[in-house]
Order: sequence, then structure tokens, then C-alpha cells
Amino acid sequence: MNKAKRKAIIAGNWKMNKTRPEAKALLEAIKPLVAEAAGKIEVVACVPFTNLETAINVTAGSNVKIGAENVHFEKSGAFTGEISADMLTELGVEYVVIGHSERRQYFGETDETVNKRTRAALAAGLKPIVCVGELLWERECNITEEVIARQIKLDLWDVTAEQMANVVIAYEPVWAIGTGKVATDEQAQEVCAFIRAQLAKLYSAEVAEAVTIQYGGSMNAKNCAGLLAQPDIDGGLIGGASLKAEDFSIIVKAAVEG
Ligand code: PEP
Repeated sequence: MNKAKRKAIIAGNWKMNKTRPEAKALLEAIKPLVAEAAGKIEVVACVPFTNLETAINVTAGSNVKIGAENVHFEKSGAFTGEISADMLTELGVEYVVIGHSERRQYFGETDETVNKRTRAALAAGLKPIVCVGELLWERECNITEEVIARQIKLDLWDVTAEQMANVVIAYEPVWAIGTGKVATDEQAQEVCAFIRAQLAKLYSAEVAEAVTIQYGGSMNAKNCAGLLAQPDIDGGLIGGASLKAEDFSIIVKAAVEG
């Protein structure tokens, strides 16, 4: 399978931004700007829990899909502050970001919990966007591939080949997230190709070729074209630039062309 046959996905990660009226306004602005991407690539907005219902209502009938920014692995119970996969699917949520480096860095997320969340999301019918990426010092110590191989193996433990059809991998070098320091096209391609090779080892070449692998980390309207043109980069997970309708739509257009 070549790149053109894989599903390209541009997903915004809004993080802890936007009240409900602000979310509504941003999505209303995004919708017409990305309408032309319908049927060509997938456009997703991953929004704070409080905005999910508003976002689903505002985007109904459009080509913008809605994702959450996290999900708990238990079905229900005494887990104060957490949200279950069933709560998300019942709302109409389709995607969920799992293992974002900010969760790993600030909220004690580990590969074990990333794996549990991923399996719970899949079991409930959600499409997980599983984030992996190395720290700056890990890159400087030349262990990027070891770090990524370990994350891929642990985060996807017990995920079946069939389930991989619903898994999206986001390669997000931690040193590039929210820093303005984007990976070069070559650096990003190298790791995304490495991820695909790991998936081929864990599953099969066929499964690996079909998985959408995104790049994330300071991708913006100016640098997106080169990244999205790489053979193993099938889209982007976009933080800061997803909060500006115009910039986000430029990235979507680049993915359609990419
Ligand atoms: C992200 O939050 O996943 C991200 C890539 O952020 P930014 O684009 O702001 O670096």
C-alpha cells in the first residue's frame, strides 16, 4: 500500500483551551474552511471534555470529527475526575488522544496506562491517537529509536492486528511540542518510517502499511507542506496552530495535496 491509499488525518489538539462559546465560534470558523477536504482526508478536533457536546452539535453534518484528549481505562466506578470510554462514545466522540507527552510529563502517564487506555478505547469503539516521542536528551544520547521501539511495543501490547485498523500513531518529539522547534522533514520522516518498521515487526508489513502515522510538534501553516509530503507522514497532530481557524485550514489543505 502506498501513502495515497492510507487515510490522512489532521487532528487539532486544543489542550486546556476554549470555553464553550469560544469552542463554538472556532468550530464555526473552521467548518467552511475545511469543507473541501471532505472525502479526501479526515479532519478532527480533539477538544476539552467540557466542550465535547457543544463540538459534536456544532460539527453535526460537517466533515469535522470530534475527539477527546484522554480516556480512563476502567468502565465506571470510584475514579474521581476521570471519564470512561462509554461516556465518550455515548456523546458521539470518535477519536481520543492517548499518551500525549503532557500527560506523561505532568500527570504520571506511563506506557502501562497508555496501553490500558488504548485497549479500553478500542474495546469501546473509539479510535485512539497514540502519542509517542523522545525527550531532547534521549535524542542527544542517540537512543531515539530505542525509546520509540519501547513505547510502540508497550503502548500497543495486546492490541490485535484487526484493531490496528482503528489505531493512529502520532510521532511527537517532546522537544518540538509547543516550543516552536519543529523537527526537520528528514528527522520526522526517519522516525515515522522507523515506527512503521516496528509495526511491521510486531504485526505484518500489510498492517504497518495501512496505519496512519502523524507528525506532531510545532507544525504550522508555514512548515506543514514539507512534513506532510514525506512518504511515511500521513497527517499531523496540531496543538497551537489548531486554535487558529485559518492556520489549521492551511494545514488541512497541505494534507489534501501531500
Ligand atoms: C500537541 O499538542 O500535540 C502539539 C503538537 O502541540 P504544538 O503543535 O503546539 O507543538
